[in-house]
Amino acid sequence: MARAPRRLSPGATIGILGGGQLGRMLALAAADLGLRTHVYCPDPDSPAFEVTRRISIAEYDDEDALDRFAREADVITYEFENVPSATVAFLRPRRPVMPGENALDIAQDRRKEKTFLRGLGIAVAPFRPVRRLADIAPALKETGLPAVLKTRRLGYDGKGQYILREASEARAAWQAVGEATSVLEAFVPFTREISIVAARGADGRFAAYDPPENLHRDQILRRSRVPARISADLAAQAESIGRKIANALGYVGVLAVELFVVGEDSDEQLIANEIAPRVHNSGHWTMDACRVSQFEQHIRAIAGWPLGPTARNADAVMDNLIGADVETWPTLLAEPNAAVHLYGKRQTHPGRKMGHVTRLSPLSKGG
Ligand code: AMP
Repeated sequence: MARAPRRLSPGATIGILGGGQLGRMLALAAADLGLRTHVYCPDPDSPAFEVTRRISIAEYDDEDALDRFAREADVITYEFENVPSATVAFLRPRRPVMPGENALDIAQDRRKEKTFLRGLGIAVAPFRPVRRLADIAPALKETGLPAVLKTRRLGYDGKGQYILREASEARAAWQAVGEATSVLEAFVPFTREISIVAARGADGRFAAYDPPENLHRDQILRRSRVPARISADLAAQAESIGRKIANALGYVGVLAVELFVVGEDSDEQLIANEIAPRVHNSGHWTMDACRVSQFEQHIRAIAGWPLGPTARNADAVMDNLIGADVETWPTLLAEPNAAVHLYGKRQTHPGRKMGHVTRLSPLSKGG
């Protein structure tokens, strides 16, 4: 059994599974609160290793390394949702793992995720499970065209997805997803994409940031801006979706829910796309526009500390620096209202998130 959540003291150690930029920014936030971190990642070049004293370079099924990691940590968290369930099952009897494995279990499987959301009364796109090529044609009758075929597991940044515009593309789609168990879902003709980034504390308190409006290109997040161009009512609905999910999971930590906005004006409606049981790229602007960032908020929650304020002090536009974008850093640094964050990755690849820049402006009316 996992131990009951308790309040850590400064000087305690947080174990972080995963060493990417999210782990790095979590470790920096923890350090600011006098907490230590131990980052566990198989990749020796992990950006998070640069900002923490304790590291484990080991595979996620290396039980000796996991055992040592658990002994050194007071609580364990993760920065990516594809942590193998066997890793969590091994760690959980040793140290509390937060957020809990129910959140991971749901977020790792698109079918379970959509079924869970629907069960909470949250709208999702019509979907059908696909186990073999022959399932696609009948599934298309339910979803209509266009439709999106997505692998059930290990989807990330649009990997493992195919948009079908014609029924004749079934075979191409099936091959594109590697003939893996999938879901076929209706293509949502959204007017905007937003997300809700929120935290639930160990005491059950819930606090959401203003929902950002998100722009994707090639299924990778490019830009998040707050405030989103949505009504106050829709923003409240987004927050209520986040709260429902966090409460239903007994969640502790920061989570994000990606949402599609459909319809116009008074017909606007939200459709949930996916849950990220972790800090999220669309919440990076909180580092510069809020007193307590999503990273600090996550650390506070899993440490059993009170959540901080989520109010915004500025309007913000966050741009990811993807691939060669990062080469513009000298120009960005010269901008007076730009907060530049570089992840220290040694290799630049097309599509790789190398950093982000948040441009701040005074709070707009109603913001
Ligand atoms: P996902 O991997 O599910 O987060 O999808 C990545 C991006 O692909 C989303 O943020 C959307 O821009 C687009 N997308 C995914 N599913 C759909 C859908 N059913 N309808 C329209 N666009 C989608």
